[in-house]
Amino acid sequence: MKVEGYRIHQWGGPLRWDAFDLPDPQAGEVRIAVEACGIGLTVLNCIRGDLANDAARLPRVPGHEIVGMVDAVGPGVTSHAAGQRVMAYFYLVCGTCDACRTGQDSLCRNLAGWVGVHRDGGYAPFTVLPAGNAVPLPDGIPAAQATAIPDAIATPLHVCKTRARIHRGDRVVVIGAGGGVGIHMVEMAALFGATVAGLDVNETKFQAIRDMGGMPIPSRSFDRIDLAPAWGQDPPTVVIDLLGSRESLGWGMKTLDLGGRHVVLTTFREVDVPLSPRDLVLRELTILGSRYASKGELLESAQLVAAGKIHPVVSRVVPPGEVEEVHRALQDGTLLGRGAVIW
Ligand SMILES: [Zn+2]
Repeated sequence: MKVEGYRIHQWGGPLRWDAFDLPDPQAGEVRIAVEACGIGLTVLNCIRGDLANDAARLPRVPGHEIVGMVDAVGPGVTSHAAGQRVMAYFYLVCGTCDACRTGQDSLCRNLAGWVGVHRDGGYAPFTVLPAGNAVPLPDGIPAAQATAIPDAIATPLHVCKTRARIHRGDRVVVIGAGGGVGIHMVEMAALFGATVAGLDVNETKFQAIRDMGGMPIPSRSFDRIDLAPAWGQDPPTVVIDLLGSRESLGWGMKTLDLGGRHVVLTTFREVDVPLSPRDLVLRELTILGSRYASKGELLESAQLVAAGKIHPVVSRVVPPGEVEEVHRALQDGTLLGRGAVIW
């Protein structure tokens, strides 16, 4: 099958619009007719080669937030059938190790990489993936909205439910609240019962933070953050850090309440912060890393969207020709929530 789509020819280089041959699905694989693919910062990180930059993997179709319809199944695949609606699981997991078997898929001991980095993704109208990466998606959720589910909504669910265990009475700060993961983190933390302060530098995103149940707080300088509008003078019990800078980490550790939890989700190289064991012990602080989400959490995220409890914020839905414009808005920090390309 001949298809046309965007491909990476050099990690960090510009995308190129190509016509190329799509292989038939092999044993254990499915071919997906892509309805839409999410556009977010993680895709840009993948294109830059931040996750892996092996030249042997090129050319590569980027894009991991895939929503589509199973179009064909490879030999031996009984779990899927043509016509089934699916969303892509980002990690290429083995499905058989202890972590996979106990529903901790993102901790797979035999991780083979990522969709859009080690396998072709959704910046093309068709893609072939391992059947295990095609997670069922309920009907009734429009494709562009649904692209937020497998990462931008599932990641907040993993943080709130599994890692930070957010509950009623928590005072949660989300740093980077207007971004694709951040805006859904605000709504998810509120859904789990917390009072939420959403920090962002871009005030055009403040109404959306309010709409998701958070109190927007300007955060141009971490020396002058005033959380009083959110809940008065009490310190936060949880800081969810989507910025991942030395300043944000330092601010969180300094600001948290006794027993507080600081959750980090970014993977930038060469960012570190000095830790004081005395401070950690005397204030009983917890630092948590949070790594993507399980397949079960993808399913649960889809149910939350279908039930109207979580509202996908996909503010720019574009045809293929306008993908690069959305990339620029992401780099400028002006894109609210996620973008998506429709095929
Ligand atoms: Zn595994």
